[in-house]
Amino acid sequence: MAKYPTDLVQLIAFFKKLPGVGTKTAERFAFQLFHWQDADLHVFSHLVSQFKIKITKCAECSCLTDQGICPFCQSTSRDKSQLCIIASPRDAYSIEETGAYRGLYHVLGALLSPMDGKTPEHLNLEQLKKRITDLQIKEIIIALDSTLEGDTTSLFLKEKIHQWGLPVSRLAFGLPIGSSLDFVDGGTLARALTGRQTF
Ligand SMILES: [Zn+2]
Repeated sequence: MAKYPTDLVQLIAFFKKLPGVGTKTAERFAFQLFHWQDADLHVFSHLVSQFKIKITKCAECSCLTDQGICPFCQSTSRDKSQLCIIASPRDAYSIEETGAYRGLYHVLGALLSPMDGKTPEHLNLEQLKKRITDLQIKEIIIALDSTLEGDTTSLFLKEKIHQWGLPVSRLAFGLPIGSSLDFVDGGTLARALTGRQTF
């Protein structure tokens, strides 16, 4: 059986690293690139090589930014007494799309998962506590995935935040069990936010 040229094999292998992409799809992607204009290929490869340098984590909340401090933290029109705890920067965009939340965010960057070695030290609680104190936060909303790791982390955070003397609410149980925020539709997420419950 004839083999693909080495660089093409490598290209296919990279595409296969993407979620939901199998060998056939990866091959289709790689062959498709032969039809792209050189200028597009150049811009694409430049973006891929530079995006992790240009886009960084906000020094305050760890959301994505290309300006040091993110637009949420910089905004003067957001409610700075509300803090929504999310697992990944991407979740902020899902929540923004609902239009049901106008407060600040805090990205944990990890969920507790003892089996994978994800312990409370990975949650950077010192930064969370510092922000809660500095910003004089009045309401904390935990918006983590409705999975085993998400639920474990929510319970752990609830205990911690109660120890710090603050009330916590959590997305209403409109979220399907086992669901990740990425895959919940906007309407369901908006209802879960507006119907949030003390936790
Ligand atoms: Zn920020």
